[in-house]
Amino acid sequence: MAEAVGRALEEKRHLIVEAGTGTGKTLAYLVPVIRSGKRVIISTGTKNLQEQLFHKDIPFLEQALFPNGEGKLNVCYIKGRNNYLCRKKLYDLTGQPVLSGLEEIEQYRAIAAWEKTTNTGDRAELSTLPEASALWFKLDARADTCLGQKCSEWDRCFITEMHRRAMPRMRLMPVFCPMYAR
Ligand code: SF4
Repeated sequence: MAEAVGRALEEKRHLIVEAGTGTGKTLAYLVPVIRSGKRVIISTGTKNLQEQLFHKDIPFLEQALFPNGEGKLNVCYIKGRNNYLCRKKLYDLTGQPVLSGLEEIEQYRAIAAWEKTTNTGDRAELSTLPEASALWFKLDARADTCLGQKCSEWDRCFITEMHRRAMPRMRLMPVFCPMYAR
């Protein structure tokens, strides 16, 4: 598989590969991708797989291939916008908190404290926040409620920051593809 991926990259053509769980597919495409030196987007079916790539597989390969740090990779990950906090919505809510129940008040406090320290705004850092939090739904950075460049928080927005981090220097970008979300 690694040789086939390498050839497909060289010849700029599509390749479809199917292989069973645990056969080493991830390494088989990552090695030729890294060796190619190309800028690459890796689209994963789940956030778990994306996190495994970013936190485990890529650092492992980086260490194995460049033990002296001679080939440091530029890698960042991008998730769907609703995984990120909208600062504008949080600040607006802080002015007029309309929260329902003790649980929501506690979640609001945790989010407000975390917003001051996080560099990414990615809710995965908030391990105590329930997956189905109704409060998060009111505060996430989804596109249909975003004010874009007219927003007073545009420069400090986590989405703007994510794009800044990704564009100029990335070589590998694991992307969570919500289309296939499980
Ligand atoms: S630019 Fe959009 S997502 Fe970012 S803080 Fe403003 S309204 Fe929220």
